[in-house]
Amino acid sequence: MPKRIVATLSILGLIASGLFSLSWGIWGHQHINRAAVFALPDSMRVFFFNHIDYLTEEAAVPDLRKYLIGDRAEPDRHYIDLEAFGPHPFEVLPRSWDAAVQKYGEEKLHQAGILPWYIQDMEKKLEQAFRNRRVDEILFIAADLGHYIGDAHVPLHTTINHDGQLTGQRGIHAFWESQLPEMFGANYNFHVSPAKYIPDIQGEVWQIIRHSHSLVDSVLVIEKRLKASFPQDELYRRDAAGQIIKNKYGQPVYTYAFAKAYHEALHGMVEDQMRRAIQELADFWYTAWVNAGRPDLTTLDDPSLTQANQKIFKKAYRLWQQGKLWGIRSGSEY
Ligand SMILES: [Zn+2]
Repeated sequence: MPKRIVATLSILGLIASGLFSLSWGIWGHQHINRAAVFALPDSMRVFFFNHIDYLTEEAAVPDLRKYLIGDRAEPDRHYIDLEAFGPHPFEVLPRSWDAAVQKYGEEKLHQAGILPWYIQDMEKKLEQAFRNRRVDEILFIAADLGHYIGDAHVPLHTTINHDGQLTGQRGIHAFWESQLPEMFGANYNFHVSPAKYIPDIQGEVWQIIRHSHSLVDSVLVIEKRLKASFPQDELYRRDAAGQIIKNKYGQPVYTYAFAKAYHEALHGMVEDQMRRAIQELADFWYTAWVNAGRPDLTTLDDPSLTQANQKIFKKAYRLWQQGKLWGIRSGSEY
């Protein structure tokens, strides 16, 4: 792995300490962005693979942006509190931003989170970047888009009860999206189907949100039930003095045994959501490129860079076909 990425990872790790995790975590986001590159057709993949380390590094940056730069526009982009729109949100919420603003006003939308519309916005921007054939723009937007598509696959990003705070389950957010994939993700299968064209981006975004939201009850109920039946003194990790160990977000860290039991009781949900995110991201990247008129990306980089990467790619691709990701070393939070 190049030195630059290792340095950035450790910086990300440092920055993340003391902050509340708000999405997949560094581990999850980086794996999603990296894996999606391999599902692209050759005409896109050569360029994306040349910049795979950037796409990986940048994956978790939108979460940090709001803390580091204090960008006030950033937080609303990562979630949607569907309950803010009544008991049947999918029946009343307009799919397009303009229609939603007309119905609810911008203020209410921003209060409830704008994730589904922001993804549509980013897809349009990526299309434009492809049309312009601007390397920096394409990479920056493609990586960011990966972050928000990742967030849309975390069930707790679609509910007002995002950290189980309304059901006495505080800490479940980071538990589900950070601790579980970090602990058990080494065995996940990161191989997905070749990228395919999405004829209706708007419909696809809402389909993703609808599916994620349908999992919210399971995420919460299964944990609650399991916690009640689990030996209480085996729930949390303890230090030598018997004190419960807290993570960098100040929340108690669950034991391996409890994390494993929850992970198993979810029947592959975390892996499935991560795989769906990888597939969707590859499909969204591909669709933006097709809509931009399939611009030639192979001439954007110096031929010597592409040539040097060919050998590495073959090895990386073989690994990916077996479900494994090459060359990734995400900073660990647990
Ligand atoms: Zn996020």
